[in-house]
Amino acid sequence: MLILGAGPAGLVLANILQAAGVESMVLERRSREQVQHRARAGFLAPDSVAILREHGLAAGLDAHGHTHDRCEFRTPAGSIDLRYSELGSGRVHTVYPQQDLVTDLIEEYLRRGGTLRFDTTVERIDDIHTDRPTVVARDETGRELRFAARYLAGCDGARGVARTAVPARTASRDHGITWLALLAQAPPAGDSVIYGVHDAGFAGHMPRTAEVTRYYLQCDPATDPEHFSEQQIWAELRRRLAAPGSPALVTGPIIERTLVRLRSQILDTLQAGRLFLVGDAATSISPSAAKGANLAIFGAQLLAGGLVDAMRNADETALQQYSAEYRPRIERAQEFSRWMIDLLHPPVGDERERAYRSERQQARLRDLALSRAHQDVFADNYVGI
Ligand SMILES: Cc1cc2nc3c(=O)[nH]c(=O)nc-3n(C[C@H](O)[C@H](O)[C@H](O)COP(=O)(O)OP(=O)(O)OC[C@H]3O[C@@H](n4cnc5c(N)ncnc54)[C@H](O)[C@@H]3O)c2cc1C
Repeated sequence: MLILGAGPAGLVLANILQAAGVESMVLERRSREQVQHRARAGFLAPDSVAILREHGLAAGLDAHGHTHDRCEFRTPAGSIDLRYSELGSGRVHTVYPQQDLVTDLIEEYLRRGGTLRFDTTVERIDDIHTDRPTVVARDETGRELRFAARYLAGCDGARGVARTAVPARTASRDHGITWLALLAQAPPAGDSVIYGVHDAGFAGHMPRTAEVTRYYLQCDPATDPEHFSEQQIWAELRRRLAAPGSPALVTGPIIERTLVRLRSQILDTLQAGRLFLVGDAATSISPSAAKGANLAIFGAQLLAGGLVDAMRNADETALQQYSAEYRPRIERAQEFSRWMIDLLHPPVGDERERAYRSERQQARLRDLALSRAHQDVFADNYVGI
């Protein structure tokens, strides 16, 4: 079994297969150091935590992660505080930085006897409609390498090679929104995720650890991330995240800044011959509802089940159902992410269109503030995959 990419999708898949006695090799174009230090997601849904626990992959998050059950929507007019452990099915997130999870998954996979080749870039995938698909890759010295396996898992993200090898019909949308994603060496201002809904643009506050907090600032797509001084960033965050009586943000050095363009892509099939797509390779989803890593973990477990049946019992039934089983989860997550995008960002369009969208945005915020039924639906979507 060949797995392309050592992100959450590839590493969860590799670990489950290895534990089931199915040999695999993971090819990753970056160095181990780079992969283990790439800060991205942090919020794990209860279903993801259950999958990781079931497969013996949760020791780190059980020891160092913490549960999270509150989010707040702030507007200049006031704030809506939702404790989602008391809403809907009463479930909570676990906050555990993605780079820590990836580090744990790498260690565990190697401990289980797996083979992981870092600094190995996949360039081409061939023969996916035969029983011996192949991968052409290049190592850090420029040497060409060829690998063959019974099945391939494309876990190489939205811009990887695997997606281009699957001739799927793609439904896509560029939401026309860009975030400056920031990591601050500063404690969070309280234990709640805060969504700042402001005319100047969205701002977000996401606790990560006791020392590090993720912030988002909606910005012009042409923004140079280095353009703003730290003072300007904190001033803008304070302005957009302000609410009467709210505690002040705790400032500190900005240790990372990147631009994230909000885009969505849904493929009509996640399989071509013996190649299967998982995680960001299977769908691009905006981080507005924190679903990407969770979809990656869910897809990895789903595919692992099908592959184990196929390789150990020569039964491909579950494998052939993979796309059909995975896609509804993707569609649901995409729908909720889109709903969050509309809720969080200032309306766009001409004057009338903006006014119309603004009315809808106000209605949604009112529903969230006042209607228990809406709060329950929100909570279940917010923590679910
Ligand atoms: C700022 C930010 C915040 C986020 N917050 C959240 C959150 O709170 N919750 C959540 O669920 N999601 C969140 N996400 C999304 C989440 O990080 C991704 O959905 C997740 O990383 C997907 O995992 P993956 O394994 O599919 O892909 P990736 O993590 O992208 O891993 C793919 C791997 O493949 C490798 N690769 C690529 N091309 C090749 C090649 N040609 N050859 C070999 N290797 C290759 C890459 O180097 C990479 O290591 C966030 C994303 C961003 C950007």
